[in-house]
Amino acid sequence: MPEPHVFLTRPLSERVMRGARESLPAELRVHAGIDGPPSRESLLEGSRGASGIITMLTEKIDEEVLEAAGPQLRVVANVAVGFDNIDVEAAGRRGVIVTNTPGVLDEATADLTLALILSIARRVVEADRFVRTGRPWIWGPQSFVGLDLSAGATLGIVGLGRIGMATARRAHAFGMKLLATGRRATSQEAVRLGVEAVNLEQLLARSDAVSLHCPLTRETRHLIGAQELATMRKGSYLINTARGPLVDEESLADALESGHLAGAGLDVHEYEPQVNERLRRMEQVVVLPHIGSAGAATRDAMGTMAVKNVAEVLLGRPPLTAVAL
Ligand code: NAP
Repeated sequence: MPEPHVFLTRPLSERVMRGARESLPAELRVHAGIDGPPSRESLLEGSRGASGIITMLTEKIDEEVLEAAGPQLRVVANVAVGFDNIDVEAAGRRGVIVTNTPGVLDEATADLTLALILSIARRVVEADRFVRTGRPWIWGPQSFVGLDLSAGATLGIVGLGRIGMATARRAHAFGMKLLATGRRATSQEAVRLGVEAVNLEQLLARSDAVSLHCPLTRETRHLIGAQELATMRKGSYLINTARGPLVDEESLADALESGHLAGAGLDVHEYEPQVNERLRRMEQVVVLPHIGSAGAATRDAMGTMAVKNVAEVLLGRPPLTAVAL
């Protein structure tokens, strides 16, 4: 039997790699490709005989991968807070611990959420594209007029968890009124920020911008479909920095095409990495390639946390951040 190793599915920053080599009590094997995630075959091959797998959200860690790894596998560490790419139940049945990276990416993801809200409301990307056409322009009283966030605009936060709350703090500083769903919507901090706790229907009906911050689960897939979009205010915006499949993108494209919605800001996509062709062509939609946590310090913190989780489990100690079902 070869010695168990830890399989890392993508090279991380130099700093994280150094830390991993120093702290892991097992040989570290890294998927060699720098251009993208491992193919399914490379993932199965790399996992074979591993005691730990450090994976990105792009890899599907299911029954087949767990089976290929074998009985010595003890931990799967996701370099992400969302863990919808991992079959946690299947891992649990095999006694394999699953970990994620909560907390360290809240600020970066909330920053990007505000960047999207501002981009859509103030038409930043659209105006940039206009200037780049080279067409002559001059300041105009009605040119690129958008929504003033500070003039009583309401932000609806679906899922006032860690990232939702960090978003609420920023939106509050911009002078927005806040509505939210989730248990923390009645917490002390929420009260201090003036958050009004509402149900999803009320939130959709009363918000100028709706921002999604809940995890992707069986229950939340297509949380925002045709009916929910119809409930949203005419001329409102949808922002998604959580997970693509929360939104039925074809219905979103219909709602934007009809003019019912005024814009959308999407960091994540239903069939990632594919971007909906209709949405991609719309001037009033900003599409990003899933960069919510892409701050250098944040990415280092995520990688370091994943490495620590694996090291702790392999040393026989509880991990820092196990996923609880
Ligand atoms: P969190 O602290 O666990 O907050 C999740 C929130 O969603 C809570 O308010 C929770 O409400 C709510 N929620 C849970 N199940 C729900 C359901 N079935 N319907 C409606 N709301 C539900 O999570 P977080 O750390 O803020 O992360 C949120 C998500 O952001 C992650 O799961 C991940 O998918 C995504 N994310 C994306 C990026 C990116 O790069 N774009 C980066 C980081 C995270 P309760 O409090 O009542 O349970």
